[in-house]
Parts: sequence; C-alpha cells; structure tokens
Amino acid sequence: PPDVETLGRSTWTLLHSIAASYPESPSRTQQSDLLSFVGLFSKLYPCWVCAEDFQGYMARQKPEVSSRDEFSQWLCRAHNDVNRKLGKPEFDCSRWDERWRTGWKD
Ligand code: FAD
Repeated sequence: PPDVETLGRSTWTLLHSIAASYPESPSRTQQSDLLSFVGLFSKLYPCWVCAEDFQGYMARQKPEVSSRDEFSQWLCRAHNDVNRKLGKPEFDCSRWDERWRTGWKD
C-alpha cells in the first residue's frame, strides 16, 4: 500500500477535485450524495489514525454541502486542520479557486 504521505496527497487531489466539479446550486440528491460520500470516506480511508481524526473533525464541523463554494471552503478548513496537526503551513482558503478550479500548478 502507498505510504501515508503519497496516499494523502492523492486523496486531497481527489477530494478538492470533487469540490471543484460540485455544482454551484446542487440538487437535494447531489447534496445527500456528497454527504454520504464524505461520511463513508471518513470510515473507509485506509489510514486509520487519519480516518479517526477526520471523523472527529466532521463531528465538530458538519460538512457544508449546500453549494460548491460552501463545500470547498469547508474542505479547505478541514485540510488546514490536518496541516496544523502535522505542523505544515496553513493554506489561504481565499486562493482555493485558483489552486483547484481555475488553475496553478505546484
Ligand atoms: P498535502 O497536505 O497532501 O496537500 C496537497 C496540496 O494541496 C498542497 O501542495 C497544496 O497545494 C494544497 N493544499 C494544502 N492545504 C490546503 C487546504 N487547506 N485547502 C486546499 N488546498 C490545500 N497524514 C498524517 O501523517 N497524519 C494524519 O492524521 C493525516 N490525516 C489525513 C486525513 C485526511 C482526510 C487526508 C486526505 C490526509 C491525511 N494525512 C495525514 C496526509 C496529509 O494531510 C498529507 O496529505 C501528507 O502529509 C502529504 O502532504 P503534502 O505536504 O504533500 O501536502
């Protein structure tokens, strides 16, 4: 299995990409699908310590799925929570669109 860092980098790419393609005005079904997805994701993520902490975060900060903007900002804060825990720099969430939707490479 990939190491925790490689898995993490790939997974954040997937999660932020899902946020980038999420509708600005999602239907009820799209909202409940996204809620189910993040809930199941947090149970199945194959780094158990990570998964446990992420479930704890979700219990304190409920996932916001009412629009692309709400979800992307929620996800950005969730990712920053992990960044803080790992001693990594916090990401400026006002630049989320530029990083994940309209482009820039790192
Ligand atoms: P990553 O954190 O993987 O970020 C990738 C890219 O995303 C960055 O280069 C940057 O451009 C962008 N980015 C950074 N912050 C944000 C943000 N807030 N919003 C939007 N974009 C951003 N690792 C552990 O060791 N312990 C854990 O408990 C742990 N929990 C995790 C929980 C989850 C749900 C996930 C998906 C990963 C977790 N990881 C954990 C892995 C960890 O978060 C990193 O992915 C890994 O350490 C590699 O870090 P990185 O420096 O390559 O950048």
